[in-house]
Amino acid sequence: MISKYAIAIHGGAGVINKQTDPERIKAYKIGLSGALQRGIDVLKSGGSAIDATIQAVKSMEDNPLFNAGLGAVYNSDGEHELDASVMDGKNLKSGAVTGVRTTKNPILLAKAVMDKSEHILLSGPGADKFAKLNGLEQVKNNYYDTEYRYKAWIKAMNEDKVLLDHTSDSNISLGTVGAVALDIHNNLAASTSTGGMTNKKFMRIGDTPIIGAGTYANNSSCAVSCTGKGELFITNCVAFDIHAKMTYLGLSLEEASLYTLKDLSQDAGGFIAIDGTGTIVMPFNSLGMFRGKADSSGLFDVAIWD
Ligand code: ASP
Repeated sequence: MISKYAIAIHGGAGVINKQTDPERIKAYKIGLSGALQRGIDVLKSGGSAIDATIQAVKSMEDNPLFNAGLGAVYNSDGEHELDASVMDGKNLKSGAVTGVRTTKNPILLAKAVMDKSEHILLSGPGADKFAKLNGLEQVKNNYYDTEYRYKAWIKAMNEDKVLLDHTSDSNISLGTVGAVALDIHNNLAASTSTGGMTNKKFMRIGDTPIIGAGTYANNSSCAVSCTGKGELFITNCVAFDIHAKMTYLGLSLEEASLYTLKDLSQDAGGFIAIDGTGTIVMPFNSLGMFRGKADSSGLFDVAIWD
């Protein structure tokens, strides 16, 4: 009998107005379904959880609707700085990058850091240099440009605000992306990628590239990928906190997630998590969270609101 496999993805949490143009909602659902399919295909063919999460995240990085890779938000200089991280629950190896400016797919760079460097977190020009040395595709910084994010940046600048992508207006404008998976070899993994906050200054770094805050995976407990107000997720060590509650208190994934979410202030965001039995949770305390889940039983579902 083939062991169970399962995957969950998110495309950001925040203020998602139910009055949003149905065509745009449809496009997000298509984007989520495509990413979910990429991930489940890897798992179905016996691939690893880490590869499944990376393929799902890469698919959303290449989709301009999401705030990761192409479509990333603008910083205060009208440019893009991207963050990403991966963690393999099998051996607790991880890789992360922050302030990436020219590497097309930051999630592939995070994986390269994990596999090919002696470090965990590389930043700025050093991260892009490492990408070049490892043959990862390079682009000009304006490759990530989209009109939608540009307008959100102009608005944020005019109001002199530094905004999380999901608070930049009352409409959809979010899209940090992430994935967690369980493969047939009983391994867990997590990946997360983002453009961060609209109009961010001083090379601000959120939770996404911080192992234990935005991303964590450990075969002994769970794999987690977060989205929301990065500063809160760093302060609360959210991803590691769920693992810790399961490990030290013996809580189930559902219980641990519930308690961790309760500790976060309203509208902080949400996360996706999976345990070794393939149980998936996707809680959030914002208006909505783009998300999806699929598994070996045939489950395949994407959702935005409750
Ligand atoms: N957590 C990300 C950050 O703070 C943003 C997001 O998830 O929307 O950079």
